[in-house]
Amino acid sequence: MKILYIEDDRTNIFLLKKTLEKYNVDFISCTSGEEGLNLYFQENPDIVLIDINLPGLGGLEIARIIRKNDKITKLVAVSASSDEDDKIIAQALGFNLYIEKPIDPTTFFKQITEDEFDSPLQLETRIVMEKYTDKLIESLKQKVEELTETNKVLMDIDKLKSNFISIASHELRTPLVPLMGYLEIILDKKKDNLPKDIMEYINNINKAAEKLNMTVNKILDMARLERGLFNLDYKKVSVVDLIEKSLTYCSPYMKKRNIGFNIDVPDKYIKCDFDKTVYAITQVFLNAIKFSFDNSKVDIIFDDKSNTLSVRDYGTGINEEELKEVFKPFFALNDISHHHSSDYEFQGKGIGLGLAIAKGFITIQKGKIWVESKGKGTGSTFYIQLPE
Ligand code: ADP
Repeated sequence: MKILYIEDDRTNIFLLKKTLEKYNVDFISCTSGEEGLNLYFQENPDIVLIDINLPGLGGLEIARIIRKNDKITKLVAVSASSDEDDKIIAQALGFNLYIEKPIDPTTFFKQITEDEFDSPLQLETRIVMEKYTDKLIESLKQKVEELTETNKVLMDIDKLKSNFISIASHELRTPLVPLMGYLEIILDKKKDNLPKDIMEYINNINKAAEKLNMTVNKILDMARLERGLFNLDYKKVSVVDLIEKSLTYCSPYMKKRNIGFNIDVPDKYIKCDFDKTVYAITQVFLNAIKFSFDNSKVDIIFDDKSNTLSVRDYGTGINEEELKEVFKPFFALNDISHHHSSDYEFQGKGIGLGLAIAKGFITIQKGKIWVESKGKGTGSTFYIQLPE
């Protein structure tokens, strides 16, 4: 005979094991309801002894789950309570027997193998079940209250995060503006009066300042998108112009990595916000370069009928889990263990706002942006669809 004992108190398990040693019993035990349920399904025991007051998944719930499909296995409730209501609830939920703690080792084996509840107490069962339902509702109410409280805390944290991002980026930007202004004056007016090596340092400082400025602008753009602060400037523009403008930002990086773009774009006019659309296309192009292997190619096609631009690269690809995430803000920060920041280097990462902003700029124009990939190593295709 196989007996499973689900009990969070290890001393009780030990004592019962000792009690049953002299019988021909295969004894298994565990200390949590979840584990107990797994063991029940794996081991197919003849008798399951269940402590009613388990933390987490409780004894009554375990009996309810087991009894859905199994009317045969003998279920024995083991409880410290001698309350008659508890006995009736246990009976109604399908326990065959109710044993009060402390267990009496001299009668226990006989009890679990021979005794059973008398036939069900119909009316009493119904009344007690109602009480049980009330208890369940009460505990559900408590859970809902707890979740509401947790949700409020999370919303407060989210608001704090947004405020922090917004204030931190403004604070970073304030000193950047004069810094870049003075650099521009030096680069413009003083470049002939300064020694060559100093000019080289200044050029490097300028590049670093521009990079920082771009990052801060991205953060500010994201914050403005979240607050719905962008206005649209709709114009009729040529698709060829959109692509060409985006390529002017990308061509130095294409050269550095020797990545060729095969372009098949008709001479068509669409109505859109030129700058925001160029931003989104450029972002997708830059990513296609970053995540392609050196010396490879990217196919750019515009489908006239559906107004959809597709950008197909043959690079690293994106796995199924990440497909849902890449447009979420700060996605690149999910795993920073291999973070290396770069605008074009293979797999270089930024702060993970590029696609989130691209999505924001396309969505406010009532367009769509999405990605398809068959997984790592298969490349990816990004699509941008704009209304006519
Ligand atoms: P960032 O602004 O940091 O450059 P993005 O928002 O543009 O980040 O991209 C987020 C993440 O999506 C990238 O870090 C990368 O993991 C993934 N990703 C984007 N484009 C591609 C692509 N063409 N191939 C593979 N992964 C990509």
